[in-house]
This record gives sequence, structure tokens and C-alpha cells, in this order.
Amino acid sequence: MICPKCQSSNISKNGVKRGKQNHICKDCGRQFIDVYSPTGYPEEVKRHCLHLYVEGNGFRRIERLTGVCHNTVINWVKAAAKSLPQDPDYEEIPEVSQVDELQTYVGKKNIKSGSGPL
Ligand SMILES: [Zn+2]
Repeated sequence: MICPKCQSSNISKNGVKRGKQNHICKDCGRQFIDVYSPTGYPEEVKRHCLHLYVEGNGFRRIERLTGVCHNTVINWVKAAAKSLPQDPDYEEIPEVSQVDELQTYVGKKNIKSGSGPL
């Protein structure tokens, strides 16, 4: 447990707030709860950063744009990459003839769905 403000480990317990253990830093007086972590960003911030990364932005640029530490973004990207299947398999991109079939199929499907229910 370290202080999120000054990184001091000179922490003492400071009662319980909303069911969570509250701590206080003896060095700077910062109060924080157990679950505090520097990566505790809302899900939408995380998604926004991952989106920026996918769009081709570098980690430093994402840090400038969002204010999220680039190390945090790197961790998110690593975690997201882990949860994905293997790298996209470009060999699975269909041949041109298969694309034609796919378009035919999609076209039929559109006609079908455009002809009303059943
Ligand atoms: Zn502190």
C-alpha cells in the first residue's frame, strides 16, 4: 500500500468509509481507500484509449490526448490482446469467387428481409 499522491508507504488506517477501508498518508495527509489504484479509470476511458490505439495513435500521444499514463494504456492493450484470439489470420480472407458468393448470399438475404415478414 502506497500513497497515490506522494508514493509514500507511511500509511495508517483511517476508519472505514462506505464499507471500504480508508487510509491516510502520514506524509502528505492524502486520504484514500483500499481499492484505489492508479489504473482505476472508468471503463469508457479505457475503451477510448484502446480505440485511439487501434486507430494508430502511439502511447505517448494517447497519454497527451486522454491524460492517461502511457504505461496504463500499454497494460490495457496487453490485456486486451490477451483476451483476443490469435492474430488475425489473413489467409482466411476469402478468394474473389467466394466474395462473389458472399455478395450473392447477402443480396438474397436483403431481398428476403425486404419482402416483409415470412
Ligand atoms: Zn502521501
